Amino acid sequence: MVKVLAVLYPDPVNGYPTKYARDSIPKITKYPDGTSVPNPKNIDFILGQLLGSVSGELGLRKFLEDGGNELVVTSDKEGPNSVFEKELPDADVVISQPFWPGYLNKERFEKAKKLKLAITAGIGSDHVDLNAANEHQITVAEVTFSNSISVAEHSVMQVLDLVRNFVPAHEVIRQGGWNIADVVEHSYDLEGMTVGVVGAGRIGQAVLKRLKPFDVKLVYTKRHQLAPEVEKELGATFIKDVHDLMKQVDVAVLTPPLHSETYHMVDADMIKSMKRGAYIVNDSRGELVVRDAIVEALNSGQLAGYAGDVWYPQPAPADHPWRTMPFEAMTPHISGTSLSAQARYAAGTREILKDFLDGTPIRPDYLIAEAGQLAGTGAKSYTVKKGEESPGSEHE
Ligand code: NAD
Repeated sequence: MVKVLAVLYPDPVNGYPTKYARDSIPKITKYPDGTSVPNPKNIDFILGQLLGSVSGELGLRKFLEDGGNELVVTSDKEGPNSVFEKELPDADVVISQPFWPGYLNKERFEKAKKLKLAITAGIGSDHVDLNAANEHQITVAEVTFSNSISVAEHSVMQVLDLVRNFVPAHEVIRQGGWNIADVVEHSYDLEGMTVGVVGAGRIGQAVLKRLKPFDVKLVYTKRHQLAPEVEKELGATFIKDVHDLMKQVDVAVLTPPLHSETYHMVDADMIKSMKRGAYIVNDSRGELVVRDAIVEALNSGQLAGYAGDVWYPQPAPADHPWRTMPFEAMTPHISGTSLSAQARYAAGTREILKDFLDGTPIRPDYLIAEAGQLAGTGAKSYTVKKGEESPGSEHE
């Protein structure tokens, strides 16, 4: 018998939905790189329903209980008296979603004496201290590619929201007004601008692909340059140094994972080096940027806009300055948890769990850390510095 502890976001305030806006979601069988979307046998949940909240249980209860296993689901995740921390000592598996992260820091690893596997239902395992996971020989896995396209769509939307000044225009309508000049004094066309993607992996390449038809100049940076044929197809030029890229762009879209190399990558000095009136979109992780440097640059006019749906910590406190700063197009962390994305990452979570329960290897694409070191996708995308806490994991 295995105990699985899942930390999921709360249900809608008006209760778990009984009907949905659409009757089905499109059937996607392959990711853009040709790999298969997760499709474990005998899925018994309905694709397109709310699976990421507490009552949705990622569709896992029947599957786990039929196998004689225990499932505990909670949204109560902060502090020593939380359900998460109380249930942790005898959990074999912890599942968490980046939208509502169950932070697994050093102290929590010490308490989790039976833990063997930490699954991120989604992508981005920075809420897990990867050094501590390696010290304790805990496997860390995430559902690679499950919501990369979902996030890319959101980022493209936010690029347009900022440049076109959509949010204030919408507010004028909600408030009964028709103040055209008030909105258009801050509104431009994207056409002709230079857009740069930082960390052009799965999300970043999907952003480039979707922006190409807008007749913009596309540049990107990542750890390793893309193959010439991929660059040609995307119409994007490689710039090795992120500082050089940031100086050239009108719009920067940040998409690398959060780790020691990317933590606070965008600080006041980098923002100062950008063109006045540049925009930044960040749906990757809040701590890629220095929080107050963003607020100051929006207030001074150095940045014309900032959009994102990632914060630190999450949930963001009511007085978080990004809630009230000017020229923002912020959302709570929703980009990777559309109903379409949930169907894929719930299926992928089940695939990982099934492999774990059967004692069969987990897809290398899904692995972040295993047997005391970074593995699979984790070895390609993350860096851990021995003895250092991973940024993003420390939160009470
Ligand atoms: P990916 O692994 O395909 O891409 C990450 C890219 O970043 C890789 O190409 C890697 O080489 C590059 N990179 C790593 N370190 C770098 C550095 N120091 N400088 C430049 N490039 C660097 O992952 P992905 O699917 O594109 O996801 C990327 C990140 O987006 C995740 O780690 C997560 O933090 C975030 N994400 C957010 C959501 C959301 O809901 N908002 C959902 C999914 C993923």
